[in-house]
Amino acid sequence: MSEPEPRSPAPGSLALIQRFINSTEMPDGVDELATGPTAARWLRDTVGADLEVCEKDRARLIATREALRDLLEAHTGENVDPGVTVRLEKLLGSAPLRPVLSAQGATLAVNCGGVDNFLGMISTAIVEATLMGTWTHLKVCRSDTCRWAFYDHSKNGRSCWCSMRVCGSREKARTYRARQRATTSP
Ligand SMILES: [Zn+2]
Repeated sequence: MSEPEPRSPAPGSLALIQRFINSTEMPDGVDELATGPTAARWLRDTVGADLEVCEKDRARLIATREALRDLLEAHTGENVDPGVTVRLEKLLGSAPLRPVLSAQGATLAVNCGGVDNFLGMISTAIVEATLMGTWTHLKVCRSDTCRWAFYDHSKNGRSCWCSMRVCGSREKARTYRARQRATTSP
């Protein structure tokens, strides 16, 4: 299978969410969170966390990753089940955040350790991206077999495919063939 073409990564802490979603390559590539030890290695390489990942925590990571992937479908205009945000709020809600104040205002910091610390970082990254207006540009490829997270740097913000050359053109060819069949069938 041809790998999705790399685009420039998402800006700021949003890149963390992009890396998290792309820690597995669909439909049958390597999943870096496939076992406790590989998930621990991924967390160490990505955020410098030094911890063991038990099966329960690994399941929470996978559930969070896939809920994020589902949610981002909204950014290419797909209808997303409202239950997805409820599920994600619950998953991320286990990580307490605290305000860090200065005369200039406040930011949020994670107030816990372990896997929850990472989940808290995901929450603060979403808040930061929302404030910066970048959140809606993080998308998942519309190809059902790809669903790779990419950042839409285009001016009109209407990209739907991780790469036009790979996924977009493949999709266009499929639509074309379907149309051909429709016009040639009796
Ligand atoms: Zn794609």
